[in-house]
Amino acid sequence: MKSYRKELFFETATRRDYINITSQVQDAVTQSGIQEGLCLVNAMHITASVYINDDEGGLLGDYDAWLEKLAPHAPTAHYRHNDTGEDNADAHLKRQVMGREVVVAITRGKLDFGTWEQIFYGEFDGRRRKRVLVKLIGE
Ligand code: ZN
Repeated sequence: MKSYRKELFFETATRRDYINITSQVQDAVTQSGIQEGLCLVNAMHITASVYINDDEGGLLGDYDAWLEKLAPHAPTAHYRHNDTGEDNADAHLKRQVMGREVVVAITRGKLDFGTWEQIFYGEFDGRRRKRVLVKLIGE
């Protein structure tokens, strides 16, 4: 069995962003040489997510509006976590809702998706350099 590890880096210009990382993950699969196996992709930060859904602009806007309704960034003083001096309590909660990681099957060297599935990096406390781990196992 082979294994392969790669880190992807992101630094968004805005506090929140939703980035389609499917081609970068497929590049890692290709580089690994693995034909049959599993691909794990996870955010290496507790204020960012990796999730799978449709790459459709309306939906991305809907996620952002929905997450802001569930856990508004402001007023920052109404979160106990922000008593530490941070202002990112909302980002921790948004990350919990959108998830930490995804696992995708690799078949004949390709990510084996369902219809319209794409892998996204969800950033909820950006404007700094952050990492995503891609770990592959297979043969
Ligand atoms: Zn925090």
